[in-house]
Amino acid sequence: MTMVVGMCRTFRDRSLDRCFQCFPCLSDPARRSSLGLKVALVMLHLIYAGILFLFDSDLIQKAKREPWYTALYLLLFFATLVQYFITSGSSPGYVVDAMRAVNETNVIYKKSSIASKQPASSKNGSLIVTVEGSQSARSFQGNNVASWTKLVMDMYPLGTPIRTCTCSYCNVEQPPRAKHCHDCDKCVLQFDHHCVWLGTCIGQGNHCKFWWYICEETALCLWTGILYITYLKANISRAWWKAAIMILLLIALSISIIFLLLLLLFHSYLVLTNQTTYELVRRRRIPYLRGIPERVYPFSKGVCSNLYDFCCVRSCSYSLESLPSAQELEEKSRPYTCLDVLTCRCC
Ligand SMILES: [Zn+2]
Ligand SMILES: [Zn+2]
Repeated sequence: MTMVVGMCRTFRDRSLDRCFQCFPCLSDPARRSSLGLKVALVMLHLIYAGILFLFDSDLIQKAKREPWYTALYLLLFFATLVQYFITSGSSPGYVVDAMRAVNETNVIYKKSSIASKQPASSKNGSLIVTVEGSQSARSFQGNNVASWTKLVMDMYPLGTPIRTCTCSYCNVEQPPRAKHCHDCDKCVLQFDHHCVWLGTCIGQGNHCKFWWYICEETALCLWTGILYITYLKANISRAWWKAAIMILLLIALSISIIFLLLLLLFHSYLVLTNQTTYELVRRRRIPYLRGIPERVYPFSKGVCSNLYDFCCVRSCSYSLESLPSAQELEEKSRPYTCLDVLTCRCC
């Protein structure tokens, strides 16, 4: 008996070794589970859409009568899956990559209009780093590392000790809002959260893509839910087992829709106020946010600017933000007056 078990194990190990030789990426358990989740997601989508087209003959008839309707649904279906894989494969904006980009490409220092009016000693402003050439793997020179250190330290208030800004795992200086992710084992710029479902971190580089993915997934689930309800309304008395399967799937779908809608609203709120999930949840524990009143959003530049930065700037470049000065925070915590409403202060 022991011999049989041993032989089975040897056979299994050999098969796995052969499999890992063909697909080296599968040798990492984390990547295997991530791949498993991706396959599960695609299967789930196929099951929901497949059962709908399999059971609902009216839908096939409708597809023949109004092909644009089915074409639009299938377009959303594939766009959602494509968006999922794009988000999953995109970089969240790693600090080491930004460091490389700073060292190897043009650096454009853009001071905000408020900062330019302040004394020269002020450290406020944001840094936009272009990403061209960031992928090249040249080794860092000593003076380059020093320039990154200086750049990061300029974003913190004067006198901040360098070791408080240095990640003990990556040994690099973290700009404000960056955090080390233990799943990715890298520091991520504007770290939001590590998404198990996508198998990647959500940060500055892919937050916009993530928002679009949730948006498309919500729309797809809502549309699928409507199609399921339409089928049940017309055919509930015809075949009970078909109706039972569809009711069960619809219950699971309804739970997903509620979750996705809340997630979409939550992330839309974060985008409009320029916050991250990590900053919102751990507000009292993050040193640079401690002591700032709850309703004050220290990194917000106004709804329109936040939206522009989120959609246009962060996905194509690394944007490093300085910590706001006491003067700026005071300005942001000032209560709203009628004049502020008329001049659209929040925008
Ligand atoms: Zn780190
Ligand atoms: Zn991560």
